Amino acid sequence: MQYPHPEVTKFLASQPLKMFINGEWTAAVSGDTFETRDPGDGKVIAKVAAGDKRDVDRAVAAARDAFRKSDWATMPANDRAVIIHRLADLVDKHTEILAQIESMDVGKPLAQPMNGDVPNVAQTLRYYADLSVHTRRREPIAVSGFDARTVRSPYGVCGFVFPWNFPILLVGWGISPALAAGNTVVIKPAEDTPLSTLYFCKLAEEAGIPKGVINVVTGLGETAGAALSQHPGINRMSFTGSPEVGRLIAESCGRNLVPVKLELGGKGAAVLFDDIDIDATAKALAGAITLNSGQVCCTATRWIVHERILDKLANRAAEVLSGIQIGHGSDATTGMGPVVSEKQRQRVLGYLEKGEREGARSLLRGGAANVKGHEEGYYVKPALLTGSPDNVCAREEIFGPVAYVMPFRDEAEAIELVNRSSYGLANSVWSQNLDRANRVAERLVAGNSWINAHNLFPHGVAYAGCNLSGMGGGVLGPDTLMDYLRPQSIVRPLG
Ligand code: NAD
Repeated sequence: MQYPHPEVTKFLASQPLKMFINGEWTAAVSGDTFETRDPGDGKVIAKVAAGDKRDVDRAVAAARDAFRKSDWATMPANDRAVIIHRLADLVDKHTEILAQIESMDVGKPLAQPMNGDVPNVAQTLRYYADLSVHTRRREPIAVSGFDARTVRSPYGVCGFVFPWNFPILLVGWGISPALAAGNTVVIKPAEDTPLSTLYFCKLAEEAGIPKGVINVVTGLGETAGAALSQHPGINRMSFTGSPEVGRLIAESCGRNLVPVKLELGGKGAAVLFDDIDIDATAKALAGAITLNSGQVCCTATRWIVHERILDKLANRAAEVLSGIQIGHGSDATTGMGPVVSEKQRQRVLGYLEKGEREGARSLLRGGAANVKGHEEGYYVKPALLTGSPDNVCAREEIFGPVAYVMPFRDEAEAIELVNRSSYGLANSVWSQNLDRANRVAERLVAGNSWINAHNLFPHGVAYAGCNLSGMGGGVLGPDTLMDYLRPQSIVRPLG
């Protein structure tokens, strides 16, 4: 594979990169730009248009017009699905390009977006395109004395604000059901990682998605993101990111009475009973905590381990983690890349310090990592901590390659340790005794419980959080499509 691909070089050559509004590539009204950097060596990759309220106004107006005047909302679902399938085919065709862009911008080892994130976008587009064809939009209601039915129509303009950890994958999870239902969208990607979303718009153009159906305003959260979530012209809002910003978005949407979906942070636990295969489980959990350098909302950050196997499990995991090669995303031998920014690196290092100050003990010492030839990159080493369940590192989301290990004696104690978290995104239970695993899985308070695996996202199974981890129904399920269809009852008295 050629790196960088000539198409990637061409895409990055026309700087500052413009945003995509009403089918046009356009600078910010203010003319301002911001920089996006390669986390692997700290160098600026591109200058990008820094949109603000005025650009959001333009994008929402374009999306409203497209909803009313293009035939996107009214065309038969089959015809819309054909166009979405064409887009999915183009994503597949451009996998290498999108994966390189994603790897550069986020720091991911290239194999991850090549084999995971980018193909997943095409799968999500196809899943919702197909589902939309088979979804009933008119359902008769059997009530005495009336001819009644429910009709489902798209809402209108849907706003999306995304984080930086899985930029293109989350665009797929977010907008596919909204588009398949016939809505139009305005996207605000994270300022750290706007590139793959912009390239995706080129493919949307080529696929024949009408002008104004997909709009992207690049910019900062406090300006472009806030303006989008506060805009009275949007009909639905979806936010993926931290609970702190989620609250602000929910407040704005509450004021405008706009329905909102929130996909927020997590502090996922893995409960390990003493009948597991220790070697295989240690490898699986080491993989979970280093996937995307630990910047995964639902990953296994708390390892709740039966006291009989804790030492063996932790020692084996520490061995596996120590063997993972840390390096630049473009290096084929890299097992774990950098975290996304210096700010994120300082966050991870700060948690390690705070945790230690509160009495946590290192089973595997973390800290900053140096990668030869990439000394300016934002690298950290994987870390394993242990200690009190009240420690800050056991309670708060760190968002780096750090796991907190705690012992338990019996089922009840394991469940209590998992459920003391304020988050409720995802946990896993590991045991050969499937009765026990299923019993415990059902007692854990979260949107998702996995058994003998962690980080599972099959299309067709809703992925959602509760408590601090979010609200509004989640993503990836069949009901997610229904979330983007406005129900309406039609009633006529029978004479
Ligand atoms: P963040 O909340 O800081 O930023 C997310 C997005 O919000 C960015 O695009 C940012 O520009 C924007 N933003 C910031 N301030 C804003 C404001 N005042 N108004 C409107 N928008 C604003 O989150 P992050 O650091 O980018 O991402 C990490 C977080 O995302 C973690 O908590 C992680 O767990 C969570 N996450 C959750 C899921 C999920 O599916 N539940 C998936 C991925 C990430």
